[in-house]
Amino acid sequence: MECPLPRGAPVIAEAISFGYTSETMAFTASTTGLLERVEKFVASHLDVNWAAEPRAARLALLVREELRRWTQSSYPGATCEGSALDPESRRRLSLTIHSAPVSHRVEVWGLLKDDPIRAVSGHTVHSWVVLAGDGGPGSAFEKAAEQLTKAGLKRVDQREGPTFSLSLWMGAGAPDGCPECLGRK
Ligand SMILES: [Zn+2]
Repeated sequence: MECPLPRGAPVIAEAISFGYTSETMAFTASTTGLLERVEKFVASHLDVNWAAEPRAARLALLVREELRRWTQSSYPGATCEGSALDPESRRRLSLTIHSAPVSHRVEVWGLLKDDPIRAVSGHTVHSWVVLAGDGGPGSAFEKAAEQLTKAGLKRVDQREGPTFSLSLWMGAGAPDGCPECLGRK
């Protein structure tokens, strides 16, 4: 598996001495090519070998699966914990990446064109977010992007494919100081 780190590696080496905030930057510096890789994986698995999973959940599950694989090849030794954000569906998932000394919280939202828009939670603002869904004017994908922008997240990358779109967002920081996210509730 090709690892995107070499370009970011010098940045990481430099960043470590600056402590926590720079660790967050290290993750940022190495997301080059991430969405492209996720897009390829999702496109080749979206319509094969599924029993009854709805499309939005398939999108979210596939994005998270590839993100987990990318993390473990980019950051050997990192551990990932997945869970569902909503108890009744798998359309919105989370992935917590523990890569000492920091943890990154990632939310993955699978969105159909006319899905209702969900509020951005207090945890979302200190997370990475991947939107995956039907793009285009007026779509839930576009409205969710507006919500994230209003909440102060920054779009790092976006891919518009023929059957679905992806975007990657960065919150203000990793869940530093959020006991709930760090599992110390
Ligand atoms: Zn939190």
